[in-house]
Amino acid sequence: MATTPDCLFCKIADGVIPVTRVYENKAVLAFPDINPQAPVHILVIPKQHFASLAHTSSTEAELLNELLLAANKVAQLQHLDNGFRVVINTGPDGGQTVDHLHVHLLGGRQMHWPPG
Ligand code: 5GP
Ligand code: ZN
Repeated sequence: MATTPDCLFCKIADGVIPVTRVYENKAVLAFPDINPQAPVHILVIPKQHFASLAHTSSTEAELLNELLLAANKVAQLQHLDNGFRVVINTGPDGGQTVDHLHVHLLGGRQMHWPPG
């Protein structure tokens, strides 16, 4: 069970809100973004609640490792052989809108930089 019952992504992790579970293991879950910004747009979340990347520390080193490994795994499953982008929006200036740590995996088109 994720720990914060009024959190949208905790509800998704707990299965209260159903999603297509693209990939999961004991620690993380990947599912499609409801408002995709690219042909492939998957979110990878820890099943445990952390409000943002800024709310983690070295205690979460293994979990943070799991998130990136899962993003790479999903990129392989989605055949993003030409590359992809991972993004972690953090806090108001980072454009974070859901306060449960998540990694965006974007691919299937050419990404542009800077993001603006
Ligand atoms: P943020 O802006 O916090 O980095 O990203 C939050 C993401 O969550 C957005 O891309 C948004 O489209 C996605 N999102 C918001 N609500 C839901 C939902 O109920 N289901 C899914 N699958 N994605 C959601
Ligand atoms: Zn949560």
